[in-house]
Amino acid sequence: MKLSKTLFKQYSRCSRVSALDDLYKKRLKTSASIFGDDEQDDFIELLYTMFDEETGDDLIEVIDKQMEALLPYYNKLEEEAMKIATDVFGGPIHYSLKTTDQKLFTYQSKDHQYYCYLDGYLEKENDIYIFEVKATTSKKFQELGPMIKKQHYPLFKKKDNVYHLTHYPEMDAKNFQRAFEKLFDRYGAIGRYVFDMAIEKMIVEEAMKQSSLPLKNIHYYLVVLNSSYVFDGASENGEPVYHEINHEKLVDFIELNPIIEEWQTKIHSIKKVLEEDITLLDLKTIPIGRFCERKKMSKCPFVPTCWEKALVDGSILEYLDHHFGFTDEFGLKHETLDLLNQGYYTLDSIPKRWLERPNNLIQRECFEAKQEYVDIDKIKKGVKTLSYPLYHLDFESFPSPLPRFRGEKPYAQSVFQYSLHIEKAPFKCDKDCDHTEYLALDFTDRREELIQQMIRDIDLSKGGTVIVYNKSFEHTRIKEFANMFPEYREPLAKINDHMFDLLDLVKTRSGLYLDLGFSEEESKQINYYDNRLHGSFSIKKVLPIFSDLTYHGLPVANGTEAIATYAKFKYLPTEDIEFLRRDLKQYCKQDTWAMVVVLWGLLRRVQKS
Ligand code: SF4
Repeated sequence: MKLSKTLFKQYSRCSRVSALDDLYKKRLKTSASIFGDDEQDDFIELLYTMFDEETGDDLIEVIDKQMEALLPYYNKLEEEAMKIATDVFGGPIHYSLKTTDQKLFTYQSKDHQYYCYLDGYLEKENDIYIFEVKATTSKKFQELGPMIKKQHYPLFKKKDNVYHLTHYPEMDAKNFQRAFEKLFDRYGAIGRYVFDMAIEKMIVEEAMKQSSLPLKNIHYYLVVLNSSYVFDGASENGEPVYHEINHEKLVDFIELNPIIEEWQTKIHSIKKVLEEDITLLDLKTIPIGRFCERKKMSKCPFVPTCWEKALVDGSILEYLDHHFGFTDEFGLKHETLDLLNQGYYTLDSIPKRWLERPNNLIQRECFEAKQEYVDIDKIKKGVKTLSYPLYHLDFESFPSPLPRFRGEKPYAQSVFQYSLHIEKAPFKCDKDCDHTEYLALDFTDRREELIQQMIRDIDLSKGGTVIVYNKSFEHTRIKEFANMFPEYREPLAKINDHMFDLLDLVKTRSGLYLDLGFSEEESKQINYYDNRLHGSFSIKKVLPIFSDLTYHGLPVANGTEAIATYAKFKYLPTEDIEFLRRDLKQYCKQDTWAMVVVLWGLLRRVQKS
């Protein structure tokens, strides 16, 4: 079998994944039944978790629209990274955006052929430099290390654009070890990149051994975006130019040699198990686990199959803070995943006495009695802190891996749109007449225009409240605006000072309710719950409870589609952009109208009593 680095990572998650993939690929190749009669029922049941029973749509390979929209930026990153690598390490570096034109290493092990393509390859007389470009930032590497007496001890230190592992005399101490272990957690935020490079090392070096290539010193580098890089806005022919600014380059290099060397024994034993699994192709159900990475972009494609029972409506995964686990009457802690593997699937499958968190008890009551929960007193007192007019505000932003405009860093959330509904007095807001908005005309830098209009639209001279849903996003964006455009600092700070999070009314926020005189326990307790929330307070989950409004059927129906739609502005003539702008406006308007409707729904609930 041919095994790429990606397949190595997928197939080594668990003993079942290669068997499921085999089944899935066979089904893709044929519409006819591929199994004998005895097995058929079991297999068909599995296939229905992979392909829609009625339409036959593929449920495993779902297109990621955001990923598609950002692809040109990832490609550009690779190009820029290799230019900078040439500056730092010399050249010529062998690289290409076309994977099959990249430097290939391949070797045979028993019946399997392992191979990997390299993002960048530089060979010198005695040394080889291997580069793996990742669309992440250096921040997580800068931050890795213990905090001792308020002092941070970073495990990686940067010298001339390259981060190297540092050794401290106290390296054996527990807190250093805890940080160090993160480099060996293949599913962790940092360990995943190290694991990837460790597999690469195995393939490269085994391939070199097999082809009897001369031994050279091989240096392995991750190449990531430099989180300290602040773009100065330079451009040529309308395209950004990322030159060095204040001694910072667009990318940083992380030297991983000592760590991936330590990984090798483990990599070889993972490979051995993987080869056994490929031979057995055992479809037998196994316990689910963290290795499925259910909520991550890197999740196993067979989550819909293996997690089918765990993801039912009313699953124990809906319990708020379920990641802290549950404690039984003997003081024994049970992790949520263990409970699922033991067959505790639904909210009411766990003994009630195991629910120590008051919020979980509220959820349980709602589930069993099929009724909603409303803390009238807290909502009423929370609402009293609002002063009218209310400005219901929502931003849409583009998370570009490469900064596009002056003052932005890699992965800046570049705001291109807002919607605003103005509620002059309680229940006095017309969906169309009391609405205003801003949407960038094209893909160029329109931030200042947006800020100017927002400051005009939100008139706080006679008081008022700016309502947002999940405050940290809008609050941070406005703070960034104030830093990038200091001439508007004062009015922007005023908007932030008057900002109120509607989520605090729907869910709760301890700080707000402690200030309003509630006890610590009361402040932490949720204000509202309904089973239809399924453990989530996102506006898209809350809205259907208070209205018939729906996002289904909108041409742009969620944040990811908004990003993908705006990304198209770059490539289309103005007249075609107009259609997309209409769709984006409709979507963002729905978001702020949803906030109005949710607030009114809550007010009606508490006014009734
Ligand atoms: S979803 Fe989890 S258990 Fe199922 S195949 Fe994937 S990794 Fe294995």
